[in-house]
This record gives sequence, C-alpha cells and structure tokens, in this order.
Amino acid sequence: MTVENAYRSLPSVDRLLADDRVRTAGDGAAPEVLTGLVRETLESVRSAIARGEPAPTYDQIVEAVLHHTRAVLRPSLWPVINATGVIIHTNLGRAPLSREAIAAMEAVSHGYSNLEFDLDEGERGSRHVHLESLLRQITGAEAAIAVNNNASAVLLALSALAGEREVIVSRGQAVEIGGGFRIPDVMRQSGTRLVEVGTTNRTYLRDYEQAITEETAAILRVHASNFRIIGFTESVPPADLARLAHERGRLMLDDLGSGCLLDTTRFGLAPEPTVQDSLAAGTDLAFFSGDKLLGGPQAGIVAGRRELVDRLKRHPLARAVRMDKASIAGLTATLAHYLKGEALEKVPVWRMIAMPLKEVERRARRWARAIGPRARVVDGRSMVGGGSLPEESLPTKLIAIDGESGWVTQLARRLRTGDPPVVGRIEKDALLLDPRTLGREEGPALVAAVKAALD
Ligand SMILES: *Cc1c(COP(=O)(O)O)cnc(C)c1O
Repeated sequence: MTVENAYRSLPSVDRLLADDRVRTAGDGAAPEVLTGLVRETLESVRSAIARGEPAPTYDQIVEAVLHHTRAVLRPSLWPVINATGVIIHTNLGRAPLSREAIAAMEAVSHGYSNLEFDLDEGERGSRHVHLESLLRQITGAEAAIAVNNNASAVLLALSALAGEREVIVSRGQAVEIGGGFRIPDVMRQSGTRLVEVGTTNRTYLRDYEQAITEETAAILRVHASNFRIIGFTESVPPADLARLAHERGRLMLDDLGSGCLLDTTRFGLAPEPTVQDSLAAGTDLAFFSGDKLLGGPQAGIVAGRRELVDRLKRHPLARAVRMDKASIAGLTATLAHYLKGEALEKVPVWRMIAMPLKEVERRARRWARAIGPRARVVDGRSMVGGGSLPEESLPTKLIAIDGESGWVTQLARRLRTGDPPVVGRIEKDALLLDPRTLGREEGPALVAAVKAALD
C-alpha cells in the first residue's frame, strides 16, 4: 500500500466517535475532549505511517484511542501498598498520616476556614499562628514557622539571614541528600557563599574558627541523613559550634533533616539527633521536614530564635514557599499527638517503628497462611529510611515467595502493576514482603493481590 492509500484507509474522526467503545471510554469527558483525543490518536497513526509503518486495522486504531484516553483521563497518582519494609519511603510518598491528621485535612478542605482570619477581632490574621504555639511547646523553641518543605526552609533561612555573605560548612557535610538536594547548590541559589572546612572524614573546631572572616554570616551543620562516614572520623558537636558562633557574633544553623522528636534508642536504633537537643545545645535555627520521622504531611519547619524567625516571616520568599491550608491542618493534628504523648500509638511511622516483633510475626504468619503453600515466613530487617538513621534497621519477619529469578521478577512486576499495586523487594530469588510497613486495614488487600498475581 502506498502512503497515500494507507492514509485514505484510516477511519474518519466521526466514525471513531460513533463507535460504542470510544463513546463509553470518555467516561463523562466533554465531547470536544474526546474529539481531541481521537484526533491526536489519528495524528500519531499518520506519523507512524509516514515513518514507513504499515496502516493499522480499524480495531487497532480503536484500541489506540482507548489506550490514549485512559492514559490522559485516568489519574496517575494512586495508593500503593508498601511491603518494602522501608518505613519512610520517599518514592512511595514518605509518611502515611494518622486518622486525626487526615480528618483535620478533610475538615478544612470541604469549605472555608480561618486560615488567615482572626475570628476574635474579625480581621485579617496570619496562617503562621496555627502551628507556632504547638511547635514552641514541643521543641522548646522561642518561635517557629513552617513552609513547603525542608529544602525551602533552608533556602529561605539562608536567603533571609546570610544574603551575599559566607556560610561555613564542614566538607563532610556539603552533601547531596537525595532527589538532587545538594547543600552547595541550595547555598548558591540563596546567594550565600559556601566556605568548606576540614576534610571529608575529619573536621575540628579550629577548622571552623580559622575560617571565620568579616564576611561570615553563619556556621551551618548538616545532618548526614542518608549515609554514614565510619572509621577515622571527627566532627564537632552542635554545642561547640554554637558556642564558637556566638563568641564571634555569628549564627549557628542546624539542618536536622528528619525532624525526630522522640528517642530512637528505645527501639534498638542509633540515636537520631532530636530537634529539642539541637535547640538546647544553642542552635539559633533548626530546620527539619514534616514528613520524615515527624510523621506528618509535607512541610519544612524552622524552629529557634524569635527575632530570626520573624525575619523569615517577612522575607518575600516566605510567600513563595508557604504551606497550604490542608497541610497546615494535617501538621497541626500530627503535632498534637506528640503533645498528648500518644505519638507511638497514633503516628503511623512511629507505630511501625515501635511495632513489636511478635506482632509483625503474627501478621506475617496469618497472611502467609492465607496466601497458601508458596509463601513462607523468614527473618529479615526493616529500614527506617527517608533520610534518617542510615544503615539502621529493625528485626522483622518477612513473607517470602521463592522461585527461579526470572519468575520472581515477573511476579514482582505483576504485583506492582496490579490493583492496588503492591511493592515488595527481591533478594536472592525470592520476593520478600514486609508486614511492618502495611497500614492497619491493608492485610486482606495484600493477600488478595498476591494470590491473584500467583494465579
Ligand atoms: C531530607 C532532607 C532535606 C530535604 O528535606 P525535604 O523536606 O525533602 O525538602 C534537607 N536536609 C536534610 C539533612 C535532609 O535529610
């Protein structure tokens, strides 16, 4: 067939629109939207023909229209069952929220709220008031502000407080946190000049001391969230950095990353620096995420000295990186769990960390039995993940499904592309599913998904 003839053999837009399969595929989309999708499909069929491909059959074109329509109209972001055993999994949306946090987000999303309205005075208020007193109570800080995420918290603080001046960072801390968040790049964006001191593995107080010049605005400490330097190492504790900074009239800033408010050593984990400890050590401003170990919605929190926080609130970037009302509501409800001393039971990431091995084992055995003879229970480790406690893990019990490696890869793929998608991990010719990272009601869905994938 010549290209001309191939073009002529294609169905018209109207004929496709009249096809029952195409009409129902629109699922309520406006007619002109469906027409556009049919046109786009025919367009790509024509380019394929122009490239020398054979003309598709009528049914193949209908299939292509349906495929394109689904791809455009169906939401692409949806819930996933996390059976990886990584509690704070950045690629899977970080912290799952408590019931109370979700309810609070829903409540302010239905209609209007007093987001920036002072109900007592009947006049304009500030969105910052909803979080500040809770954050002060919990962290012991004089003042606090929450913004879009921790990357923007650091960017805002450096822009507002260090301007075109110098900020001293240990060479071992001028790091990439993941997802392209690199301390040197953020500093460049803010206009400040990075002064690296020490070596990758060892930095002493005198290194900082010698680097302080007229131009120095602050010393910045960055928590090694996602890696660990071990062996012949030396770093300076925050209290010493704070003392030095203050003797010289400079600021001590601490990028803590994970926003840990509780003692991790109770669960057999290494100590993760807490916000309270950093501030008690004399840090002027501490920065941390809302959706890592804090266990709330995406947010970046700055806690510390009143006068500095006020300068951040007034900076033009504060508007550009502000939080939305639903996240403020969710973070407020999450923080309330800490104030009430119920975080271990209510905040999902802490419930998962604190889940006794016996309970994980009970889940693993029950679900493995329901899956059938292919599933067995083995020992394993769960990770905290998400830029906290690198290399640290918790003992767990895994559901293992063994097979030859190609088959296991296929099984993992079927689970990922199922409904709901299930993400596990593969190790030595076995698919491993960790019950620790599942929500309270996700067990039956996991069992059904695995049984369907095995069939
Ligand atoms: C995770 C992390 C960040 C980035 O936080 P986001 O909330 O993802 O923007 C910055 N610094 C450190 C030390 C981190 O661990």
